[in-house]
Amino acid sequence: MNIPFVDLKVQYNSIKESIDSAIQNVLNETSFVGGKYVKNFEEQFAKLYGVKHVIGCGNGTDTLYILMKMLGIGSGDEVITVANSWISSSETITQTGARPVFADIDPDYYSINEHLIEGLITPHTKAIVLVHLHGQMANVEFVEKLCKDKGIYLIEDCAQSHFSEQNGIRAGLRGIAGSFSFYPGKNLGAYGDAGCIMTNDNDLAIKCRMYANHGSLKKNVHIIEGINSRLDSMQASILSAKLPHILKWTEQRINNAALYNKYLSAIQQIVLPAVRPGTKHTYHLYVIRAQQRNELAKYLADNGIETSLHYPKILPNQEAYKYLNTKPEDFPVANKYQEEILSLPMYPELSEEAIQYIAQRIAEFYKS
Ligand SMILES: *Cc1c(COP(=O)(O)O)cnc(C)c1O
Repeated sequence: MNIPFVDLKVQYNSIKESIDSAIQNVLNETSFVGGKYVKNFEEQFAKLYGVKHVIGCGNGTDTLYILMKMLGIGSGDEVITVANSWISSSETITQTGARPVFADIDPDYYSINEHLIEGLITPHTKAIVLVHLHGQMANVEFVEKLCKDKGIYLIEDCAQSHFSEQNGIRAGLRGIAGSFSFYPGKNLGAYGDAGCIMTNDNDLAIKCRMYANHGSLKKNVHIIEGINSRLDSMQASILSAKLPHILKWTEQRINNAALYNKYLSAIQQIVLPAVRPGTKHTYHLYVIRAQQRNELAKYLADNGIETSLHYPKILPNQEAYKYLNTKPEDFPVANKYQEEILSLPMYPELSEEAIQYIAQRIAEFYKS
């Protein structure tokens, strides 16, 4: 059996007609940047989340950068984020001129260890980029309260957590703003790069919209200098076509995780993903920790099962952050786990048969 890590084709085929006509509509109007398809998607996504403003941007990384710039973060400032994430969470801090400050992860839930944050706050700390990694919520309630007490901004990186919740409130709605990516492999994925900012703050919304479009809200009127990071109409139209299915796809991911839990539960050599109490994990990734991780990954590959690592080298260990002079002992949990984590295939259309096959191969590996 051949099981890819993610299968975008099976999803495309399941809604081919609506995707094809979404693309054709944009071609018919030759309205490629801005216009009604972008506006429609922004309104639909905002309605689904019950949020005042959604601002489509070129990609998820830019949304973090735009948010921090428009919150006035820059040179001399510090922004706290987590040691294990995709580099967008930290490189955008540096892009503003500020300094990223990494925190270790929680040993059970793999997101930031919220109890370490207070100790990292200095008079220079301006914000926290809180990443809800793998679809698993960080303890955003706790961090929201801490940020309020300390007078710092909470920015939620929701690139891997569309429709995740803590106590009934979705990722992206507690902070000053949420940042979303619609990269093709994300839970809600476009067919190219795309992202959006979500916020209830009117002033911040206007600033971000302006900054993402050359500092302009009206043609040829530039209040400030900005960048070019707009959501294009083709991507917006495709995202609108996918939106009616996204809640069902999210439930399918959750079901698939439950099936993995069932079929993998007897294997002593692996640790299954724990769900933080009171939260809805939406399984952008299904990440186990495994003894002899590299050998297991190879065994699975030999049996047609593609796996991945999120992430094999934590951010502070990357060459890019050598200048921060951190030591592996500063992030003991993240350093240990980078050698143990393994992401198994996960997508809504993954079949129970495939999950059983994967579980059998894993069991077989540890028996031999
Ligand atoms: C994918 C991702 C991003 C960036 O999104 P792009 O659209 O690829 O720029 C940011 N943060 C995290 C945690 C991500 O996984």
